[in-house]
Amino acid sequence: MRLALDGGTPVHTSGWPAWPPPATPEQRALLLEVLDGGAWGATAGTRVAEFATAFAASVGAEHGVCVVNGTVGLFLALRALGVGPGDEVIVPAYTFVASATSVVLAGARPVLADVTPDTLHLDPAAVERAITPRTRAIMPVHLAGAPADTEGLQAFGIPLVEDAAQAHGAARHGRPAGSLGAVACFSFQSSKAMTAGEGGIVVTCAREVYERLWSLHNVGRRLGGGWYEHPEIGWNLRMTEFQAAVLTPQLSLLDGQVAARERAAAYLAGELAAVGGLSLLPGPEGTTRHGRHLGVVRYVPAEFGGRSKADFVAAMAAEGVPLDAGYRSLSREAALRPYVGEASCPVAETAEDSVVWIRQNLLMADEDALADIVSAAAKVRHEFRAQPEMM
Ligand SMILES: *Cc1c(COP(=O)(O)O)cnc(C)c1O
Repeated sequence: MRLALDGGTPVHTSGWPAWPPPATPEQRALLLEVLDGGAWGATAGTRVAEFATAFAASVGAEHGVCVVNGTVGLFLALRALGVGPGDEVIVPAYTFVASATSVVLAGARPVLADVTPDTLHLDPAAVERAITPRTRAIMPVHLAGAPADTEGLQAFGIPLVEDAAQAHGAARHGRPAGSLGAVACFSFQSSKAMTAGEGGIVVTCAREVYERLWSLHNVGRRLGGGWYEHPEIGWNLRMTEFQAAVLTPQLSLLDGQVAARERAAAYLAGELAAVGGLSLLPGPEGTTRHGRHLGVVRYVPAEFGGRSKADFVAAMAAEGVPLDAGYRSLSREAALRPYVGEASCPVAETAEDSVVWIRQNLLMADEDALADIVSAAAKVRHEFRAQPEMM
């Protein structure tokens, strides 16, 4: 069968589910209520505060503070723990760049630690090597929707700031992501598993951390204090009532969406392994609920005639299956070099060259469409092996 890239017929032509999904009647009604009610900001309305409480409860945390985005949420989480200039925060090398830049925003230095080859999550052994007397926090990233090995990291006695930007609905040993560290941050940016286009929330079980978060995101005001009373430095980083109106109904949709993605992931794990040269990475041992925000797939070029990951992504896209090439290793990001120095992170660097992602909207497709992902991969493998890379 000729590859679509070479003029053949594509395997999949019927498109993929949209992300975000079409708005529900409840979202429309709430959004119009806010619009017509005139209380558009969180200092005038009650929806942001209600959503913060409901979301925090859903992840087993006591308190939540809604903010403008996840990056700023991580910055606030660090500042609320007292992280600042002169301090170091350990961040995995395979993550979104904001995990590291939020540390820079807080005035501290991100220190990269490599990830484990089986899950691409923060490697506790690499963290141990990266710890110095200046280490003030560790930032486990719940990559792709699976919680990091937080017990392994807790053993160092350094506070954990969970980067749960991708981990809505995830759980480790039955405990939700968001209640596995000192403080946690979720994102509601367009691509995330709950979204308002932009937005974020910081959650914690500690009252004093909550009070600091609240103050920092509300211009240094004090809970219960006056409008022009600013006992500390803070900023206006508040979410709008419009965002809370769009987000609130998603709380009751999340479980069903995660279940659909888990079913798709279970199917693809088996079928892609049978194709050969492709494996869907599992969450770390102890993952009891994988949000499957992304399906992370390892591509073995030797099984595909030596053809590169870029060739594979291009051929799959032509077959109607848009995959994502994923992150670069943060150890290779020139903009971070002045902060992280010459970090060697061979596992993250290998992942950059060999890992592709299946985005969550593909994982929410019907069975026929999921089968097309497998058929396209088998077709590309067959054709690549027939026309191998010239060595
Ligand atoms: C999306 C994301 C962020 C940043 O969230 P924004 O809302 O886009 O600022 C941080 N860390 C990870 C791992 C992310 O995926």
